[in-house]
Formats: sequence, C-alpha cells, structure tokens
Amino acid sequence: MIFTHDTPAQRVLFGHGRAGEHLADEVTRLGATRVMVIATHPHPDVIGTIPVALHHDDVAPHVPVDVADRARQAARHHDIDLLVCIGGGSTTGLAKAVALTSGIPIVAVPTTYAGSEATDVWGLTEAGRKTTGVDRRVLPTTVVYDSALTVGLPVELSVASGLNALAHCVDSLWGPRADPINASTAAAGIRALNAGLPAVVEDATDRAGRDEMLLGAYLSAVAFASAGSGLHHKICHVLGGAYDLPHAQTHAVILPHVLAFNAPAAPDAARTIAAAFGTDSAEDGLARLRKRVDAPTALSPYGFDVSMIPDAVARILPVVPESNPRPVTESDLTTILTAACTGDAPM
Ligand code: NAD
Repeated sequence: MIFTHDTPAQRVLFGHGRAGEHLADEVTRLGATRVMVIATHPHPDVIGTIPVALHHDDVAPHVPVDVADRARQAARHHDIDLLVCIGGGSTTGLAKAVALTSGIPIVAVPTTYAGSEATDVWGLTEAGRKTTGVDRRVLPTTVVYDSALTVGLPVELSVASGLNALAHCVDSLWGPRADPINASTAAAGIRALNAGLPAVVEDATDRAGRDEMLLGAYLSAVAFASAGSGLHHKICHVLGGAYDLPHAQTHAVILPHVLAFNAPAAPDAARTIAAAFGTDSAEDGLARLRKRVDAPTALSPYGFDVSMIPDAVARILPVVPESNPRPVTESDLTTILTAACTGDAPM
C-alpha cells in the first residue's frame, strides 16, 4: 500500500442548541473584534454576544462575481477581522470569496448538508460560467455545527442536501486522490447519513437524526476535499453551471446513475458502500434509502430538457476524471443523462 494523504487542519465545535455559546468562545479565542456576519436571516440567538461590525445579507446562489465584489468591498470598508457565515453552501461560498482575496479567517455555521464548510474549494460564477479553485485561505478555520439550526430546512431540501452529502462520500471512493483514509471517512459518512436522513424525514423533531446528518455532512466533505472530484461531481458541476440547475437536487438525481455505471468496475468501492449501507449491493443500499425518503428522480422538473443532452455531453466529456474506474464514452453520458432527465431507473 503506497499513498500520500493530506488532511487540512480545522477545528469543529458540535452541539445541539450550542451555536451561540460555541461561536462566542471561538470569536474570543481568535481575538476578533470586528466580525462580518454573512447570513440571509438575523439569527439573534447565534450572534447575540459577538462583536458584529456588519451583518451582510446580500447572498445569491453560486456566488455571482458582482455579489462577491460587493461583499469584499464591505469587508474592506468595515475593516473586518473575522467572517462568520451562517447558512447553506451559497452563504459559505460568499464568505470563501471574501477570504480568497483578503485572507480574513472564516468561522462557518452551516444550516444545510452541502459540506462547503469543510473544503478548501471556492466557486464564483460570471456570465453563466462557474469557475472553481482550491486555496487553503478559503478553508474555514472553525466549523460550528448546531442541529437546532437545521430544523427550518424544508423536508424536500433536507433530502436533496443529504443526498448531496452522500454523493460526496460515494464519489470520493473513485476520486483522483482516493486513498484508504478518505475511504474510511467516506464510509463513516455514508453510515451517518443513512441513519440520519430517514430519521429527519420521518420526524422533524428527531434531534439525534439531525446530529447524524451534520456529522455525516462533515465526514462527507472531508472525504470529498481529500479525494477530489470524481465523475459524479464533474457531471453535476457542468449541469449546475451551464443550465442553472439547483445544486443539491441535481446531485440527488444524478447519484444513482453514476453509481450504477461505476460500481461494476469498482468492486472495492462497491463493497465499501454496500457495507456502509448494510446491504448486499451498493446500488440496493442507495435505492433503499432513496425510496424511504422519497428522493427526486428526474431533472426535467428543474428545467433540464432532453434537447440539452448533446450540449451537456460535449461539456462533460473533456472533464471526465482519469481516475474513473471505467472509460466514459459519449454514448455512456447520453444514456446517463437521458435516464436522469426523464426519471428512468439507472441502467
Ligand atoms: P443554498 O445555500 O443555496 O441553500 C438552499 C436554500 O435553502 C436557500 O434558499 C437557503 O436560504 C435555504 N436554507 C439554508 N439553510 C436553511 C435552513 N436551515 N432552514 C431553512 N432554509 C434554509 O444551497 P446548498 O445546497 O446548501 O449549497 C449549494 C451551493 O454550495 C452551491 O453553490 C454549491 O456549488 C456550493 N457548494 C460548495 C462546496 C465546496 O466545497 N466549495 C461544497 C458543496 C456545495
């Protein structure tokens, strides 16, 4: 066994109903005196005791460059020394855009399962084109997880976002830097998400399930950040950027198709996924979870049409990772996207 593994350092504070206290401790520990809070909601219970110099709520999906520029100007103007973002991946993404050009540290308080808080990946969108990059300056110094903050997340979004996290785990297993360490993290993530997601869907008040989901989201993102983007993420990245499809829902729909395509050529990964689900096959484990939480099955309701498939295939083919366990042809991608568009079962 020969591999090189790199886990970026990050502090995690976890506790239901503890975000305010944990955040205050962290702001003190970091010595910050002028905090920029990036959040679309006021969150008085969370930010009540920290030195807020500015509450910035100008957030938009996929971090458009003009939104990033306004946030960067605001941070400069208010002489900010710490960014605190409270929200989903779009909010974390905006804090990352500010950190990228300023080096200001981030404390992230996630309210979805997107996992951006645990990666050093940033993204910016200009004229319908999403650019991403990797930079250690954008990795939040600290993550504060509080499952009480996820209670307001609608069930449909909880499901899509939870499957977005699950996709990080699955795709990590054949990502370009997949190794036994990130595979273990991915497997632990699948176990947590498989336990948590049905609990959250079936009982909105299930605190243990919500904790499992945040734990799973973190593990999934750590695995993904370490292993890098596999075929699934490349497909979703192109679809999200080119056709403005919703991020989490796109991941939720595409995942079973990529798993069905890759699993036969990746027996170790398939065994790891099946064992984490506690099922005989990886595909059955995912299918069982998806059925239980009534996962979305088709991209067409989100605005993706079969007429877009040839263009999408042409965009995806050049970015297929070399690490993929089997070759990917134009015909393969057409089959995957056609089934995902219409909601047909994975082939
Ligand atoms: P999002 O942040 O856009 O949130 C989706 C919706 O849910 C928004 O309307 C938001 O206001 C709402 N919301 C969030 N938390 C809520 C809560 N607790 N209660 C009620 N409503 C809530 O979507 P997302 O799926 O969290 O993130 C998607 C974005 O994150 C994409 O731009 C994606 O590219 C990025 N992302 C980046 C990384 C990375 O590593 N850089 C990883 C994952 C996702």
